[in-house]
Parts: sequence; C-alpha cells; structure tokens
Amino acid sequence: MLKDKFSRHITDLRVSVTDRCNFRCIYCRSAEPENYQPPESLLTWAELLRLCRLLGQLGLHKVRVTGGEPTVRPGVEEFIARLAALGLYDDIAMTTNGYLLAQKAATLKAAGLQRLNVSLDSLRPERFDRITRTRGALDRVLAGLEAAQAAGLAPVKVNVVVVRGFNDDEILDFVEFARAHGHILRFIEFMPLDADHIWDRTRVVPAEEIRGRLESAGLPLVELPRHYASETARRYRFADDGGEIGLVAPVSEPFCGKCSRVRLTADGKIRTCLFSQLDHDLRGLLRDGASDADIAAEIESIVEMKEDGHHINDPDYRPPNRTMVFIGG
Ligand code: SAM
Ligand code: SF4
Repeated sequence: MLKDKFSRHITDLRVSVTDRCNFRCIYCRSAEPENYQPPESLLTWAELLRLCRLLGQLGLHKVRVTGGEPTVRPGVEEFIARLAALGLYDDIAMTTNGYLLAQKAATLKAAGLQRLNVSLDSLRPERFDRITRTRGALDRVLAGLEAAQAAGLAPVKVNVVVVRGFNDDEILDFVEFARAHGHILRFIEFMPLDADHIWDRTRVVPAEEIRGRLESAGLPLVELPRHYASETARRYRFADDGGEIGLVAPVSEPFCGKCSRVRLTADGKIRTCLFSQLDHDLRGLLRDGASDADIAAEIESIVEMKEDGHHINDPDYRPPNRTMVFIGG
C-alpha cells in the first residue's frame, strides 16, 4: 500500500481525462480563450489505463474520473469499462457538469460507473447561463440528472460551489430541490483555483455559515459518521429525516491531515495535492519506454513527497500555476 512521509495511506485516485470543457464556469475557467494542451500532450486512453493499472496495483482502490469535462472526450465510456475490467478499483465514480448525461448516463452505468457527482450551481436559467457562460444549458443538465437516476446511478450527488454574491441566495432552493428529487447535496467552499482570480476570502461562504442558515430556516442538521477517514465532505442528515447533505470546507475546515488522494492530469502528471506548486511528470517515462517497475518506483517516490497540506490560509499563499480545469477537481 502506498504511504506518504506523514504515514497517510494513499488509496484514492482522481484522474482527469481531458483539459477540454464545454462550460466556462466563472469560478473555474477563464472568460478569455485558454490555451488547451495540444492533443499529442494528452495521454492516450491506453496510457491513462496503464497508469491507472499501476496505481491500482500499488494499492489505490477508489477512482474518480474527472476533467475538464470528462464526457466531452470521445471514448470515456470504454475507458470506464476498461477501468472496471482491471478489477483493481472497488469504487468507480465520475464528476461531470451533466450537459451530455442525458445521452450518456445509461452507457456509463452499463460500463461500470458506480457513482456520479453532477455540478449544478444555480437553478435559475439566466443565472446558470451567467455562471457557466453558456446558453440554455440548465434544462439539459436537469434532464441529465433525470437520466442518471433512470439509469440506476441514484442517489446522484449534486455539487454546488457556493460563491457569495453569485448563488448563496439559492442555498434553501437547492435543499428543496435535492430533497424533492432524492439527490444528495454537496455544498463546496469556493477555492482559490479559478483562472480569472476572482477568488477572495469574502466570496467564500464557510460551511459553518451554511449550517447556521439552514438551522435558522428550520432545517437543523445531525452529523453522520464518515464513510471513511479521508472523506472530503462532512455528512449530515436533516433532523426531520429528509435526506442527506454534505458540506465540503477545504478553506474554513481543512481536511489535509487525513488526505488519501493523488491526482493524475490529462497530460500525465501526478499532483499530490490540488494546491501543489509542482507536478510530477510520468508521460516522459511512459513514452521513453519505461518498464512497469520503473514507473511504479517513480510513483512511490512522488507519493512520498506529498505535501502536509494546503496553505490557503497563510498570508503568503500563492495559487498553483494550473487552475481547476487543468488539474481535475
Ligand atoms: N467538469 C466537471 C464538473 O464541473 O463537474 C468536472 C471537473 S470540475 C473542475 C470538478 C469540480 O470542481 C466541480 O464540482 C466544480 O464545481 C469544482 N470546482 C471548480 N472550480 C472550483 C473552485 N474554484 N472552487 C471549488 N470548487 C471548484
Ligand atoms: Fe468546466 Fe467543470 Fe470547470 Fe465548469 S467546473 S468550467 S464544467 S471543468
């Protein structure tokens, strides 16, 4: 089993299969055209699968497929099927913006996808367009959520990044929506990983404030035990038994001490933290014909260097060069 120098067991992989995205969310991508990586820089499906196999053989057993937007890369369904066929991962999940889900949910489920998080940051069409910089996409995402449920991917987790002044007035609407549809809601604090640097502390709505707002609205929460120590969300149920909600508070309540994650980017870098200043290249090794044993040894030494945690709350905090869309959230 992989362990870092702080004796944290590394069991979870986030694999970004593309840096492309069909949305341009204000808290993630730039309003300006970005330079996507040239196609030859991106790992092929076979290269991604080889690294996933090696990481699985080193003891990782949970994998989340993300991006960019994972569903825009042709072949993602086959990739999931091949991941499942490795027999190394007991939990195969995906995070998506849901735009293409109506057409892909059933195939993804049949391929072996077990769990799905769908990002949804407003229930108001014009605001949704403004946040995602798209036109008329909300209906498609809502149809995607229905398709995911119909395909047997329920309960779907609905990820909401709460940004003060943008969508924090919809917290109660989201609760009502999620409870009415049987989704598990995840409110996520806004992190300083956006391309246009609109993040500042005043835009973060701390989890504690959300708990307070729900309580004041007559919706007190009861904390649930964690499924596992490194879970990013603190889980609650509504005291009236109306479903589960999670609060992900990387800014106000960092959970780095129990982190079990590494990330593989679409261009073949390992990132040992979302906020790493460095990434570690595996693509060069892969393309230079390195053996499995050599790559595994490199992964072990990279993991060993995993940071103690992020330093968002330090006065001299510097965001990483890569933004969320290029890291894989
Ligand atoms: N495109 C997919 C999606 O949006 O679900 C997957 C990739 S996206 C980078 C993964 C997750 O990161 C999404 O839930 C998104 O809302 C979240 N995210 C992006 N930028 C963020 C930021 N600055 N702070 C917090 N969460 C962010
Ligand atoms: Fe695309 Fe997801 Fe980033 Fe939005 S959050 S721009 S959907 S990668």
